[in-house]
Amino acid sequence: MNDRLKEKLSRIEPYVPGEQPKGANIIKLNTNENPYPPSQRVLNALKEIDGKSLNLYPDFVCSELKQELGKLSGTNEDEIFLSNGSDEVLALCFKAFFNSETPVLFPEISYSFYSVWTEFFNIPHKCVPLKEDFHIDIDGFICENGGIVIPNPNAPTAIAEGKDSLIKIIENNPDSVVIIDEAYVDFSDKGSVADLIHKYDNLVVAQTYSKSRALAGIRFGFAYANSELINVLEGVKNSFNSYTVNTVTKVLAYECLKDRDYFNETVEKIKKTRAELIKGLDKLGFETLDSSANFVFTTKKDADCEALFEYLKANNIYVRHFNNPKIKNYLRITVGTDEAAEALLKKISEYFEKKA
Ligand SMILES: *Cc1c(COP(=O)(O)O)cnc(C)c1O
Repeated sequence: MNDRLKEKLSRIEPYVPGEQPKGANIIKLNTNENPYPPSQRVLNALKEIDGKSLNLYPDFVCSELKQELGKLSGTNEDEIFLSNGSDEVLALCFKAFFNSETPVLFPEISYSFYSVWTEFFNIPHKCVPLKEDFHIDIDGFICENGGIVIPNPNAPTAIAEGKDSLIKIIENNPDSVVIIDEAYVDFSDKGSVADLIHKYDNLVVAQTYSKSRALAGIRFGFAYANSELINVLEGVKNSFNSYTVNTVTKVLAYECLKDRDYFNETVEKIKKTRAELIKGLDKLGFETLDSSANFVFTTKKDADCEALFEYLKANNIYVRHFNNPKIKNYLRITVGTDEAAEALLKKISEYFEKKA
């Protein structure tokens, strides 16, 4: 390819998702997927979908789906925005709400997609360091800014902040949109701030079906906010792609919402496995941050966790390691099934035995 042609291509640095290895004996604990299948109601509905209507564009209003979502959070239809996964919801939010010359703020250690979007959309940004104990520095978000985005629970730390702390940030920033990314909120006892959208017209709450709802494959995410913010978001979406929720996703997302028992059951199972996994890691000398998510963030002071990560991978167990110097000796491990946790702990213990 010649240089003049090359000059016209994008030089973007993309987000790097966790690996999606294929194979029979792989234990995959690297991308925070749900280890359980979707609800039987979803599987039944999938079989019954009439493919003949797929020649038509999807319904871009999705009224029934929004009403059902609204029941969960006490929200009206015009306070809900739907899209193709919450990554897309968040990207559209960045474009819609972050248009200031003043930097947008997010935690220094958090979801690495945020800095990708600020680069992508040319949005100035500043990272707020976490506190020594890995909690979010609430006061660090009380200053002049062009917008705020915070994952709660945070990733990859798994730590959740209480509602009062988030309210402090929202109340002290009436001139900025504050996005709370609640991808993992269903695994947290601290709860969602979705109900606060009626009180604060600068608050956006994003959620996803990829983690607690076991539907990463259908790509469904949504946001709750004041209807004026939702209108702007709809405008941005319609300048990009009007049909972000496809026909199949719409049906399956609705059925998933209807099966609350299965949802509660699987979330409880994951929380139980989480407690067991943390106990097992304790026994092996690891220190694990207090987890409110479906993953844990753990370290062992006298060990080389990156080498352990490589060892696990060579043994078909995939967890996540980040090259950021501040968290270089930590591993992020998805909470899967009890069996997966047992296999992981056994392999870690084997690694240290071999080293001894
Ligand atoms: C997984 C995740 C998302 C995005 O999920 P989608 O699969 O795009 O719905 C958003 N934010 C955080 C912090 C996540 O971990």
